[in-house]
Amino acid sequence: MPFTLQPLPYAPDALQPVISAETLALHHGKHLQAYVNNLNTAVAGTHFEALPLEEIVLKAEGGMLNNAGQILNHNLYFAQFHAPKQGKNLPSSNLLRAIEQTFGSFEAFQKEFVQKGTTLFGSGWVWLSADKEGKLVITQEPNAANPIQKGLRPLLTFDVWEHAYYVDFQNRRADHLAALWQIIDWDVIASRYDY
Ligand code: MN
Repeated sequence: MPFTLQPLPYAPDALQPVISAETLALHHGKHLQAYVNNLNTAVAGTHFEALPLEEIVLKAEGGMLNNAGQILNHNLYFAQFHAPKQGKNLPSSNLLRAIEQTFGSFEAFQKEFVQKGTTLFGSGWVWLSADKEGKLVITQEPNAANPIQKGLRPLLTFDVWEHAYYVDFQNRRADHLAALWQIIDWDVIASRYDY
C-alpha cells in the first residue's frame, strides 16, 4: 500500500500567528507531499514497499532513507501542535518532573532546546527523546535523521529547515523556535513518553 500524506489534526489557520496558513500549505501540502511521492516512487517494486516507515528509516540508504526520514520526522512534528495558548503552556506533571530533574528547570530545558536548534548548522531537527531507561536527552539531527537511528524514542521536535519558518520569520530562526512553545500540545508529547 502506498504511503499517504498524514492529515493535519487541526484547521490550516489554527496555529496562527506562530505558524501561518501559508507556511502550513507549503510545508505540509507541498514539502511533505513531495517526500511522500518520492518515497512511493523509491519503494515501488522493492521489498521496502511492505515495511512500516520506522523500519525503512532503520534499514534503507540514500534517497529512500532521506524521504522516509523526512516523512517520519514531519508526521511527529505536525501532530504535536495545537492553537496558541495564552500564559504558561506546560507539560503534564509526570513529564514536567522528568524535565526538571534532567535539565534543572523547565526554563533551562527550553533554553537548551532552542540553543541547540539555533546552532544546528544548515538543515535538520532538534529533538527531545527518551533513552531505553526513560532518561531524557536533547539531540541535534542533521537533514532527515531521526533519533530512532540512535535507539532513542522521539518525543518532541523543532524543524529547523528554512522551509519551516522563512515565510513567517524570514532569517530569524531563534524567534521562530521561541514562538513554537505556545503551540506545543504537551498531551501529545506526554503520550509519547508515558506509553
Ligand atoms: Mn520541514
